[in-house]
Amino acid sequence: MILDKSVLEIIEEIAAKYPGRVAIKSQDQSLTYGELWRRSDQLAAWLDDRLEDNKKPVMVYGHKNPQMIVCFLACVKSGRAYCPVDISMPKNRIEDIAAIIDNEVILASEPLEMEGFEVINASNVLCSDKNISREKRVKKEDVFYIIFTSGSTGKPKGVEITADNLKNFLGWSKELIDNALKGREKNGVFLNQAPFSFDLSVMDLYNSLVSGGTLLCLEKSLQADTARMFEYMSLGRPECWVSTPSFADMCLADPRFNGEMLEDIKLFLFCGERLSKDTAGKLMERFPAAKVINTYGPTESTVAVTSVEITKDMLAAEDLLPIGIPKKGTEILFDGEEMLIAGDTVAKGYFKDREKTEKAFFQLLDSDGKKCNVYRTGDSGYFKDGYYYCTGRIDLQVKLHGYRIELGDIESNLMELPEVEQAAVVPRYDGERIRNLVAFVKAPNLEGSFKVGRALRNALKEKLPAYMVPKNVVFVNEMPMTANGKLDRKKLEGSLA
Ligand code: AMP
Repeated sequence: MILDKSVLEIIEEIAAKYPGRVAIKSQDQSLTYGELWRRSDQLAAWLDDRLEDNKKPVMVYGHKNPQMIVCFLACVKSGRAYCPVDISMPKNRIEDIAAIIDNEVILASEPLEMEGFEVINASNVLCSDKNISREKRVKKEDVFYIIFTSGSTGKPKGVEITADNLKNFLGWSKELIDNALKGREKNGVFLNQAPFSFDLSVMDLYNSLVSGGTLLCLEKSLQADTARMFEYMSLGRPECWVSTPSFADMCLADPRFNGEMLEDIKLFLFCGERLSKDTAGKLMERFPAAKVINTYGPTESTVAVTSVEITKDMLAAEDLLPIGIPKKGTEILFDGEEMLIAGDTVAKGYFKDREKTEKAFFQLLDSDGKKCNVYRTGDSGYFKDGYYYCTGRIDLQVKLHGYRIELGDIESNLMELPEVEQAAVVPRYDGERIRNLVAFVKAPNLEGSFKVGRALRNALKEKLPAYMVPKNVVFVNEMPMTANGKLDRKKLEGSLA
């Protein structure tokens, strides 16, 4: 389906028709469509006055406060891209991102101190009742949002998604959801697990907003308390579940997680990492009335580009679960075993990083002679009997508990520590799944003990989000090398078995 209006126009229409309907709900706050529209208009007018010709993107810092969405819409209404940054980021990373974005104003819905920047608490500036002209809005090829992901050289990289990319993604994903939820009540509840700085959240947030649904946000603190989270979820009555498979596994570990607890669930939508047969099978057993859909895609191609509904036959087949078939407007190509994504949701590139952009993106002419963006995914895969399959990575990117991590990012940050001469980070597997990460460190001037290892981990925590900090540090005198003089990662991995 092609959306016949822009994303903002659709939300505007819903806000005018159903101003009292709840758009966003967190544990102790909620916001109606009417308020969301009015407050984001006011904030957009304020941004416009304050920033004038400065059209640089705006960082939006916080967690799952509904104010975050007010800020997102305000930025794009005022013609500026937004860049969501979650509270799970340590100060150093936030500073890195703020320096790349380089806008003097930062919007925040949680406390943040940043020297050299004006941090604005969004709720404190909603005083003017000015409207903002529609002409100012971000549109078409303009960047709508920038999401930062782990970069192999130790600094995060910002993926630029345009208004058209988002619209093309939503045209497809809305139809996918509408079909799966046939017979649903119109204004369904969408579950939000991922932080807004992770592109998976775009799937639930915007699909909910363009269908007049309610976004039920699961805050970090709630996710750490299963009993409370289950109670909250059950009362919230979600119909459409969007999460990483890892999060579903965490819920499945508790037998209470079943169709009686979540009576309205009709669809489980997954993306971001491999969906195992075990996870899909358990869900199909415990939620017989719900469909399980696997989707695949990187942030660089607006959340997801392929989909497939998992069937019992697929669970019984020898292959992995498929990632499905591409959406209209997208093709999966192969360069050797590497999958390339060509289509209308492929990002512009990495913000202010020509070198990385040129390495990962290029353009092709499509069958109508139109230019089409292509992204080299770094994923390996194959096509069989009508479906695509993703088998793994051809580089050093991993997924741990659903988080995208470049091992090189951790290694570069370790090697920036003065004592560390050489570092290699490898995954420790539990069957097919990564259980945790282990850092091998050569630091001749350090006494290799548990305590020193902990000190290195603490130093890393200052620079990287907690999920990127290796669980263990192993001190070595020399790193193992392969016959052609490269670091022997397989040997390091093997030593953990
Ligand atoms: P992110 O940009 O965080 O969404 O991560 C994108 C990467 O996650 C992809 O390049 C894949 O390596 C992996 N990924 C995403 N969806 C799937 C899936 N359904 N099956 C296997 N891997 C996936």
